[in-house]
Amino acid sequence: MWWQEPVTILKGVGAKTAADLALAGINTVGDLLEYYPRQEAYIDYSRLQKIKELAMDGSRQIFKGEVCSARSGYGAHGKNYTAVTVRDETAYATLYFFSYQRYKAQKLKPGQELLIMGRVRPGRTAKSVSECIIQEMDGQEAAAPGIMPVYPLTGKLTQNNLRKWIRLALAKAAEDLPESLPPSVVKKCKLPDRLTALKNIHFPPNWQALREAKARFVFEELFLLQCGLLYYRRQSHDTRQGIKHGAAGELLAKVRAGLPFSLTEQQEKAWQEISLDMQDVHPMHRILQGDVGSGKTVISALALAKAVENGFQGCIMAPTEILAAQHYETLQSFLEPAGVRVGLLTGGMRAKARRELLLNLELGLVDVLVGTHALLEEDVRFKHLSLAVTDEQHRFGVEQRARLTNKSEYAPDVLVMTATPIPRTLALTVYGDLDISLMKGRPPGRKPVQTLCYNEQKRQEVYAGLLRQVQAGRQAYVVCPLIEHSEQLEARSAESVYEELKSGVLKNVNCALLHGRMKGAEKEALMQGFAAGEISVLVTTTVIEVGVNVPNATLMIVENAERFGLAQLHQLRGRVGRGDKQSYCVLLAGTDTPEALARLAVLHDSEDGFYLAEKDMEQRGAGQLFGLRQHGLPDLRIADIMRDTETIVQARKLAVEELAKPGAMQEIRALVEMQFGERFKMIFNT
Ligand code: ADP
Ligand code: MG
Repeated sequence: MWWQEPVTILKGVGAKTAADLALAGINTVGDLLEYYPRQEAYIDYSRLQKIKELAMDGSRQIFKGEVCSARSGYGAHGKNYTAVTVRDETAYATLYFFSYQRYKAQKLKPGQELLIMGRVRPGRTAKSVSECIIQEMDGQEAAAPGIMPVYPLTGKLTQNNLRKWIRLALAKAAEDLPESLPPSVVKKCKLPDRLTALKNIHFPPNWQALREAKARFVFEELFLLQCGLLYYRRQSHDTRQGIKHGAAGELLAKVRAGLPFSLTEQQEKAWQEISLDMQDVHPMHRILQGDVGSGKTVISALALAKAVENGFQGCIMAPTEILAAQHYETLQSFLEPAGVRVGLLTGGMRAKARRELLLNLELGLVDVLVGTHALLEEDVRFKHLSLAVTDEQHRFGVEQRARLTNKSEYAPDVLVMTATPIPRTLALTVYGDLDISLMKGRPPGRKPVQTLCYNEQKRQEVYAGLLRQVQAGRQAYVVCPLIEHSEQLEARSAESVYEELKSGVLKNVNCALLHGRMKGAEKEALMQGFAAGEISVLVTTTVIEVGVNVPNATLMIVENAERFGLAQLHQLRGRVGRGDKQSYCVLLAGTDTPEALARLAVLHDSEDGFYLAEKDMEQRGAGQLFGLRQHGLPDLRIADIMRDTETIVQARKLAVEELAKPGAMQEIRALVEMQFGERFKMIFNT
């Protein structure tokens, strides 16, 4: 299809142009058409102003100017810049360029006519313009009416050339352009058809048409993403036979009777859902979302026991060695008394021990295997795997999940556990292929963690409190934003805090330094020492964020707490308050600004991870928290999962409806592949 043909099929586009375009990632005609203009960067010629008229309020404005001179300098923030002075008949303005844009700016010649868009502010001698998008004028340009797109440029590309080629591609599209959405959906949502939308996103006749075109492509992307995820699930439902586990039997009864507590109502409900899924012949794809400390591990133990009870094997994959080791211990304590054989696969294992473990696994002499990414390796072969659990899933992607489930000739059940509370709309995008079980609250008998926010002045008092906890036989974490001192960042490092404590208040106390740059074995030894109570105070970084369980730890001090997001602080705080003693979390802010302190105060008031995650997003805004690629999903070109939440819900609903229609599968699969290509193919083919 012409869409996938190289750009050289367009008349007037030769090998040299193609090479320039390739630098910008444009290889095919389709790439060219999907090379959308920069966000909010269209030049509206009707808004052209004289320099004298430009408002100096920092908003984006458009004007023309003739280059007078260019000079380079070294700014106060230590950044090189190039300043270009331009003028029109009314006044002068200075354009500032940083980083790679400097080089282009340096090549500007006096007398050249420019079209300029940028943010205008007051300057020392002339108006100052930053975030400039400039374009050299030629005769034809000056005459062009309407709204013009501004494209991101690389290499030798220019706005004028890109516009010319995109017009050529649009002419090609006008001859024959397949629709990329089911016609019924286009009609139902009153979207512009694809050709109209493509024309209008590049060369909009007016702003309304541009908005509609953008909305269509946002919807299209999200709709096809949802279709892809649903398709993936449907396919593994339909084509690979799942394993039907039986109703609860003797082994499960034994495991349950051996638990040191009874399940809470929330746990019971989640377990019911999981257990019914496992008894179904369709493979389970379920995510268990539960706040830190909500008691997810025991649920995974029951699910694993169920697999074993039915004569199969199960595995659980954790993101770090420490966490895997801890799961191993916990699962052993829950499962071994009932006769389940649990094994641990680590990266640092000696070759002989590893060989032996893997042989036993293949022979079915190991029932449950615990490990990290090491589980995904080729030579890890099960006799008959029926359940794959992944813990703290935000670190694993769809592809990794697929690789794990491919270790069985049948489609094993999949259980994903996460403590990252993700608002529902996001969960739909990121986990669109999974059912969700939710556990709110905590098991009984655990006091809420008391959270206190202080500034630097209280440091000595906080240290005194630390010593009191240690003297009472408890343990503490001190979390720092950095490992070692940094010239650029004004924040306390784990190394310096460790030295300070060691030579001061904790002189006679056994404390240790633990951070992510240490070797796996070293970290593990320290963590084990802490878990065993041999180490009283652990000075560390966010490596301990995930899952470690030490009930005797009753105090956490977070240095430079203002540097962390609320959700992350909440995760960190979840490391204490795991026993029956009153626990404390002290947030030491390295700043006195009221905003920073008010932000942290939210943690004092709430222990609800879901509420905090929403607050976090409000405060930190879009895109900070999630990248889709991190989850193994294709990056989105134009949709934004934080901004377009309403569209996500609508797209999801329509995708479900659409796929339910007889015969819709193949059509939709083709559309999804056209949109996302290789990214989804790998998953489809599993
Ligand atoms: P997370 O959901 O963060 O993984 P864990 O599974 O580590 O939480 O559980 C946190 C703590 O709560 C553990 O010490 C666990 O033994 C305990 N726990 C779990 N369920 C219950 C329960 N129903 N009653 C009492 N304690 C429980
Ligand atoms: Mg956990």
